[in-house]
Amino acid sequence: MSEALGRDMSDTLDAVVVGSGPNGLSAAVTLAQAGLRVTVLERADEIGGGTRTAELTVPGLKHDICSAVHPFGVASPFLSSLPLEEFGLRWRYADIDLAHPLDDGTAGLLSRSIDETADGLGPDAKRWRRMFGPLLRNFDNLAADALGPLLRVPSHPLEMAKLGALSVLPATITARAFKTEAARALFVGCAAHSFRPLGSLMSSALGTMHVVSAHSGGWPAAEGGSAAITRALAGLLESLGGTIVTGCEVKSAGDLPSARVTLFDIGPRAIAEIIGDRMPARRVRGYRRYRYGPAAYKVDLAVREGIPWTAPDVGRAGTVHIGGSMADLAAAESQVNRGIMPERPFLLVGQQYVADPGRSVGDVHPIWVYAHVPSGYTGDATPAILAQIERFAPGFTDRIVAQQVMTPADFEAYNPNYVGGDIISGQNSLRQLVSRPVFAPDAYATGVPGMFVCSAATPPGAGTHGMCGHHAANSALRYLDLTAS
Ligand SMILES: Cc1cc2nc3c(=O)[nH]c(=O)nc-3n(C[C@H](O)[C@H](O)[C@H](O)COP(=O)(O)OP(=O)(O)OC[C@H]3O[C@@H](n4cnc5c(N)ncnc54)[C@H](O)[C@@H]3O)c2cc1C
Repeated sequence: MSEALGRDMSDTLDAVVVGSGPNGLSAAVTLAQAGLRVTVLERADEIGGGTRTAELTVPGLKHDICSAVHPFGVASPFLSSLPLEEFGLRWRYADIDLAHPLDDGTAGLLSRSIDETADGLGPDAKRWRRMFGPLLRNFDNLAADALGPLLRVPSHPLEMAKLGALSVLPATITARAFKTEAARALFVGCAAHSFRPLGSLMSSALGTMHVVSAHSGGWPAAEGGSAAITRALAGLLESLGGTIVTGCEVKSAGDLPSARVTLFDIGPRAIAEIIGDRMPARRVRGYRRYRYGPAAYKVDLAVREGIPWTAPDVGRAGTVHIGGSMADLAAAESQVNRGIMPERPFLLVGQQYVADPGRSVGDVHPIWVYAHVPSGYTGDATPAILAQIERFAPGFTDRIVAQQVMTPADFEAYNPNYVGGDIISGQNSLRQLVSRPVFAPDAYATGVPGMFVCSAATPPGAGTHGMCGHHAANSALRYLDLTAS
């Protein structure tokens, strides 16, 4: 344990949060807002977990190491309630939130305007409006319920029933409502963010939420890089009297300072290692059985003049989904979930500089790309990734100035929450979609009085929205008999 920690922690603290990812910091802010004295312990030398930015390729070029675009950052009832602009956070929007290029040289385009998006989809215009319009009308209410535990009575049952009706089917079935390949691919590409096979039940859920969030608040990037979200949360926390200690890994219960409540921004298996001997045996078994899904394989690129996309307007999009038609995507995602590396993997490409030009150096732009690959994949996925982009942007590879690769093993070494390279902190199986980390009345309670889990292994799951941390902190406040929302 660090000396700084030893000096600061001589008496019992109100609250300790282990881990400074967006959920750890959101939990800490919620507790500090309630008047608690909070300390955050972070194993890395830098705070932020999956929300950090660094110069990974050429000097001056700002790459987001993990999270890059933030539909649920702006939709988050908690983050949007905070004065984060006062601590430097500015959201930046590209004209087009998402583009999905196809082999015929066209692309599906998703933007904040549902009318513009629908009109661009020609024969599917009416269907697109009819499918997503009703959810858009009360999106704030929907987000308040959907970004929380699903196993509870919703505050807005009508909105949740509409979402439920669209979510339950496999994404490939929902998408068949559309006639054009552009609309189908746009929808299943959004659904693929869940890393779930696209032909499986409930795989439409995340696709629907991503589309509706685009039409509601957009898919912005943070000015200067995602680390700006971390800095703003940390600045707010410190203004409320909270402290953060870096370089402090909690490996066992003995590393934990004495506190009235302790929250873990880490995975269930790691929590079982740390406090398993104090937890009810059934809960320990449940945490050890927590399942992880497929992995990410990331390549950060410095590209002169950006990517020369064939389809018009793809260069104006903040995010690009690569993988071709709905059938191509479904095949690739099915393989990845069966442990097979696809020849043509699904890619998420981030062009955050389009919204935030300050990230580039002259005409050299940072490009953020990751592919879905099998859990723990040890091969070299870089050639397949570059070939997939070249497929929709001939000549692209000639423009690469520098690159850096992050394999599934690199991800796990960077942050132990990413087991086997799973960047969404746990498989989105049917069971873990509905109840994670285990089936329990309070998803955030570990079974040890005063100890809670606040990471993305709890509802509502992965993403930079802080809602897992906020809900976990509210459980802790209820435990302390303090008011919680
Ligand atoms: C490549 C990639 C791309 C992504 N893209 C997006 C995106 O575009 N949009 C989006 O919304 N989300 C995205 N995500 C997901 C998002 O980053 C995560 O869901 C989010 O960061 C989870 O937050 P968290 O606070 O639960 O945990 P984390 O961010 O994982 O933070 C956990 C923290 O705990 C620390 N820690 C771990 N063990 C210990 C220990 N024993 N002691 C002390 N500290 C410890 C870690 O170092 C880390 O700082 C992406 C993630 C990755 C990796």
